[in-house]
Amino acid sequence: MPKLAVYPGSFDPITNGHVDLIKRAHVTFDNLVVAVAVNPRKNCLFSADERIEMIREALDRPTVRVEAFSELLVHYLKRVQANVVIRGLRAISDFDYEFQMALTNRALYPGCETFFLMASHPYIYLSSGMVKEIAYFGGEVDEMVPPNVLAALKAKMNHIKVDQLK
Ligand code: ADP
Repeated sequence: MPKLAVYPGSFDPITNGHVDLIKRAHVTFDNLVVAVAVNPRKNCLFSADERIEMIREALDRPTVRVEAFSELLVHYLKRVQANVVIRGLRAISDFDYEFQMALTNRALYPGCETFFLMASHPYIYLSSGMVKEIAYFGGEVDEMVPPNVLAALKAKMNHIKVDQLK
């Protein structure tokens, strides 16, 4: 059976940086799942269903599975029989957190390996949080997110509360 790789994240919402990473990871990992974290402690702007739908539409790749998970990542990995995690590294700011997560996951699930892809140059400083902040204040995010996400952001703008922008 081909090895299953899991790309977990909040994707609130998916950005062009995430899309780029998924496409690049898919070149090496045929069997790829984008796993959308559902965490009640995180105040997301978009619901899990909305985030999943946006990812599916933005990717338009039936070969990439997109689904939610609401448990510890290592429990999810074991449940779907995956031991490969894909994560992205932007500038230097991601390194410390990602290093901690990768080592913690390996301690909890020996044999679980995290593969890091460097962000592509245009997306090195792009984050979902930044996109939401810019969109909230009426700035242009056209180059930062797929067209369907742009439309969804515009539709949400009137309902955004400031504490949903993190
Ligand atoms: P989190 O999982 O911390 O909630 P995200 O959903 O925003 O964060 O991101 C999921 C993964 O995608 C993380 O590994 C993050 O570093 C990576 N990532 C986010 N934005 C980009 C980008 N612009 N380019 C490459 N990787 C990215």
